[in-house]
Amino acid sequence: MTPRLVDVALPLPLFRAFTYAVPDGLRNAVTAGTRVVVPFRQRTAIGVVLGESNGESLGTAVAKPILDAPDALPAFRPDLLAVGRWMADYYVSPVGLVLRAALPAAMGRARRADPPLRTQRVLRIAQPLDTLMQRDAVFARAPQQRALYELLETLGGQSTVAHLVERLGCSEAVVRGLVKRGVAAVVQEPVDRDPFVSRAAPPPAAVTPSDAQRGAIAALRSGAPGATFLLHGITGSGKTLVYLEFLRHVLHDRRQSAIVLVPEIALTPQTVDRFRAVFGDLVAVLHSGLSDGERYDAWRALQRGDKRIAIGARSAVFAPLENLGAIVVDEEHEATYKQGEAPRYHAREVAIVRAREAGAVVVLGSATPSLESWANAQSGKYHLLSLPARVGGGALPKVNIVDLRHEAGAGAPAAVQALRRILSAPLEAALHDRLARGEQSLLLLNRRGFANFVTCPDGHVVACPNCAISLTYHRTPERLICHYCQHTEALEASCRECGAENLKQRGVGTQQVERLLNERFPTARVARMDVDTTSGKWAHTEILDRVGRGEVDILLGTQMIAKGLDFPNVTLVGVIDADIGINLPDFRASERTFQLLSQVAGRAGRGPKGGEVFIQTRTPTHHAVQCAVEHDYLRFVGEELPAREDPPYPPTLRLANLVISGLDELAVADCAQQAAVWLAPRLEALGGDLTMVGPAPCPIERIKGRWRWHLALKAARPAALTRLMRAFLTRFELPAAHEMRVTFDRDPVALL
Ligand SMILES: [Zn+2]
Ligand SMILES: [Zn+2]
Repeated sequence: MTPRLVDVALPLPLFRAFTYAVPDGLRNAVTAGTRVVVPFRQRTAIGVVLGESNGESLGTAVAKPILDAPDALPAFRPDLLAVGRWMADYYVSPVGLVLRAALPAAMGRARRADPPLRTQRVLRIAQPLDTLMQRDAVFARAPQQRALYELLETLGGQSTVAHLVERLGCSEAVVRGLVKRGVAAVVQEPVDRDPFVSRAAPPPAAVTPSDAQRGAIAALRSGAPGATFLLHGITGSGKTLVYLEFLRHVLHDRRQSAIVLVPEIALTPQTVDRFRAVFGDLVAVLHSGLSDGERYDAWRALQRGDKRIAIGARSAVFAPLENLGAIVVDEEHEATYKQGEAPRYHAREVAIVRAREAGAVVVLGSATPSLESWANAQSGKYHLLSLPARVGGGALPKVNIVDLRHEAGAGAPAAVQALRRILSAPLEAALHDRLARGEQSLLLLNRRGFANFVTCPDGHVVACPNCAISLTYHRTPERLICHYCQHTEALEASCRECGAENLKQRGVGTQQVERLLNERFPTARVARMDVDTTSGKWAHTEILDRVGRGEVDILLGTQMIAKGLDFPNVTLVGVIDADIGINLPDFRASERTFQLLSQVAGRAGRGPKGGEVFIQTRTPTHHAVQCAVEHDYLRFVGEELPAREDPPYPPTLRLANLVISGLDELAVADCAQQAAVWLAPRLEALGGDLTMVGPAPCPIERIKGRWRWHLALKAARPAALTRLMRAFLTRFELPAAHEMRVTFDRDPVALL
């Protein structure tokens, strides 16, 4: 009797499956989607069964038997296995790698490894030194201890000892010195404590939906299986209530399950809290703070049906829920839904495919939908639902433009001009106003560090030795840092190129604005939120909770503060520099700027006190700025969509980015040329459906020591592009030297 054979996907960078025999003892345990342990080249490997095999790929070889099938249920139910196969095809990625990326890390190992609970040493300020005089007295002969104390302060008063020592490049003796002085104390804290376990869910708010909300809920309830809805609701229009009421129907009336995707869990604790308030124990929150073991447990609870709502960032789209009724993609325009490494999937697109396979309804929600989703709603592919007004009759905040070109005042003293370039008189007056009334303000500056770059009088800029990018000046601790590769170096006294001595810092970062705010508003409680102050896993949540409790007067931050915050006492939003990003060499530069300005403006005036916004800019007539001022999304798409037709960019057509990188500049350029030569005749054979732009150096020519060239491929129909890329990635031969690598990014969110 011939043995039963199956095809198994292994997590290898190969576009093929492997055939194995099913031993009699595992006959009932092995089916499509089952995780199996198999022998592979003298070792064992974990794979996933794709389906039955006719043994064709074996040739004359004899199939080896599967060693084990460790799970009681298949790891992939049919809908998820189909999603995995679609992803492998569409993103041209080996199916074994795709399936591994869709499972918790612990399931990539033969045995479940649950690390024991560990603790870490945390340094906390024990005695705050508020005045300069106190600090001078205490740290007179201990500048390193002072630097440590001040770093601790910028990190919110506590941080792990390991992190502090690494950031300062100091020894632990400095930590001991600070403790000995009684200024700080070391405590043991558990690693990876999960705030969603101990965090109290607020009681559900008793709200009656508005007419518009009721209409949207009814449309979703009657949505056909597999249908996609675009919920376009202005900021503060109550999109979350629509999700909640729809999911109540899905879970309670239909006894189904649901997935809720958010851009980043740590930045949206309020949204997560509202779901937990309504659905309590049915919710599993999947976030990056979970240990491998906790993540595995949550995954199992979802698979068993003990939990019926999975909330998480993009990878939650793979939650193993049965009988899936709905997938919500909140803030669907966010770039974080795109995975930056292989498989480079977009969670919004995967959600739509999964819903189609499972017969679920998808809701894409945003105040500023991506142009792709908007075009799909216009063509009738998605159903458009609109929430055109704020709940409770609230008004959108008035947005004022401050033209920085005229603010500095030509005749004013240099110090005043320097101040006004960062903080204009109208914005400063508005901040004073809020402080006097006990209201809160948000200030956006989408650039961390102290100064953007350092330059000599001749214009030589201090650049990263590994990347084609300038180094950013950081003040606490003082050093130059590359924001692409984390390369760090001390600030030198003179220019490396020409020896000139008076180096100048240019361009403002959050650290500099924070210092300025402390000078101008000495009594205000200022908090800063950027990558440097949120290195602890739950630092975001802690800062936001402090704002919610009214312990912060001014919250200054990067784009992190623009996402979904809802604080009724925030009545002022200021944008320090609206022009950052507006001229990036990327076809989405205007769209990103419009979305960021609209979203941050939408944080103002969400309570009965109303709100006001000031946008500081040197390009007040740019349509991204103008449309944000008028809260006019329709006008923005009306101007932006035609601009994407010539030259054509998405959503007019499909785009893919092929990047070739390596250690040698000439070899990379040469390889990119060869790739173009390889592709050109094949493009022609496809009859003009596909076009190629380039090859050209990437806008950032070098990152982490690797030179980068790219080819942009544009396609009217997606299928031809899939076939071409599969042929290219399996047949084009990369030179063996210089660590040459090729990456394929379909539907890229940026071309940098
Ligand atoms: Zn670098
Ligand atoms: Zn110079």
